[in-house]
Amino acid sequence: MILVTGAAGFIGANFVLDWLAQLDEPVVNLDKLTYAGNLQSLESLQGDARHAFVHGDIGDRSLVDALLAEHRPRAIVNFAAESHVDRSIHGPEDFIQTNVVGTFHLLEAVRAYWGGLEGAAKADFRFLHVSTDEVYGTLGAGDAPFTETTAYEPNSPYSASKAASDHLVRAYHHTYGLPVLTTNCSNNYGPYHFPEKLIPLMIVNALAGKPLPVYGDGMQIRDWLYVKDHCSAIRRVLEAGRPGETYNVGGWNEKPNIEIVNTVCALLDELSPRADGKPYAGQITYVKDRPGHDRRYAIDANKIHQELGWKPAETFETGIRKTVQWYLDNAAWVAAVQSGDYRNWIGKQYGAT
Ligand code: NAD
Repeated sequence: MILVTGAAGFIGANFVLDWLAQLDEPVVNLDKLTYAGNLQSLESLQGDARHAFVHGDIGDRSLVDALLAEHRPRAIVNFAAESHVDRSIHGPEDFIQTNVVGTFHLLEAVRAYWGGLEGAAKADFRFLHVSTDEVYGTLGAGDAPFTETTAYEPNSPYSASKAASDHLVRAYHHTYGLPVLTTNCSNNYGPYHFPEKLIPLMIVNALAGKPLPVYGDGMQIRDWLYVKDHCSAIRRVLEAGRPGETYNVGGWNEKPNIEIVNTVCALLDELSPRADGKPYAGQITYVKDRPGHDRRYAIDANKIHQELGWKPAETFETGIRKTVQWYLDNAAWVAAVQSGDYRNWIGKQYGAT
């Protein structure tokens, strides 16, 4: 049994779906169901005894203590976080509360639980903390990609809160010996992505005939990884990563934002052309840049590749095509998110609010 936090969110939901498609080991999913938590993404697991959902906060110490005592997980994967940079600029407090204070309370509960384990259960236990490449700050055009030893220089309230959580996780290994693993991953894309983030926002706005807002000159460079490749990396690190180590995860796909938007538009032109036959790229509108916007992120993923043999299965071209097709095939999921109806799923599925 593993405990996965934040598994009603984008990556967590993909992780649980993938995990249960490949393994029979049950998952307890602890999620607070913020605006970003959507149980509809896990609809296909309805009635599957291997998935148990618990509505709650990682910072609720007595709840987490009780869950650990009841389920005795062999591992914890911590996805729970506030994750949207723009929201962190407008209201940083939730980010500090969940990403820093919440992670701290979770670590305290896990330290107590792990301290009570014995023998192989104690030796084999793992706490895997899912983090981001944004903790490393920004790169110039000619700089080498981030490695695991790059100094942390977070620039947004979001990345600062994730950096703080990474440091806590590291300290719990060095101070208490807790067997932790940290992954720092580049930008994910794929199914079940909340349409406030770049790629789903562009798909959804394009199909609705709305403007496609691109920050600044659109030349901010990100590395992109298909979400299922991130999930396979996490499974691999959980299985074979060395406690106390961090692993960078990336797709070797550095691309400027404007190229991402143009690629999405071209795929939509092919797969779902506009009624008037005009290209979707005509909807692109440049808007004022985000304050403090990092210019470039790039990941050196050689450590996880060489040490653990992981590499992504998708290229950007195959992954982005699958993603656009998924949004075209799942209009009901998108409509429920846009109408806010997805929030009713907890009541429909679990009879609670
Ligand atoms: P998301 O915002 O889609 O999902 C976050 C989930 O956490 C939601 O279901 C939310 O309800 C839950 N949550 C929030 N606060 C909680 C709390 N206090 N207790 C319990 N649950 C809580 O985020 P995501 O994109 O799936 O990202 C998951 C993790 O991966 C985050 O830690 C993020 O920093 C990291 N990450 C994301 C990306 C990316 O591109 N999306 C890249 C690298 C790392």
